[in-house]
Amino acid sequence: MDELIPWLHDQMSAQRLRADSLKAIAAALPHETGAYLVETADLLLAEVDAKRRILERHVSEEHFLHGTICTWCSVPQGGAYQSWPCPDIRDSASPYADMPGYQERWRLP
Ligand SMILES: [Zn+2]
Repeated sequence: MDELIPWLHDQMSAQRLRADSLKAIAAALPHETGAYLVETADLLLAEVDAKRRILERHVSEEHFLHGTICTWCSVPQGGAYQSWPCPDIRDSASPYADMPGYQERWRLP
């Protein structure tokens, strides 16, 4: 099993916690400064939701000839098979490349 997807879910859960912390900090600040932090936290949360939707669409599958492929990115009718993890998944992981557990083989060239 590829550990990228569970690792990415962990990173997004941590991002959600950071957003929640920002909102808690914002509550103790003057309104204008606090509002900026809340807006930033909401952007972080929206980004996590969008990435989770991306992860739901991109699914790995074993192909008898092409190995592990992404079913979303591959076009079997056109003879095009995208290996797993596909560029969209690898790009989704790239903001967390400095976090523990990131593997260089996930990095796009
Ligand atoms: Zn894909």
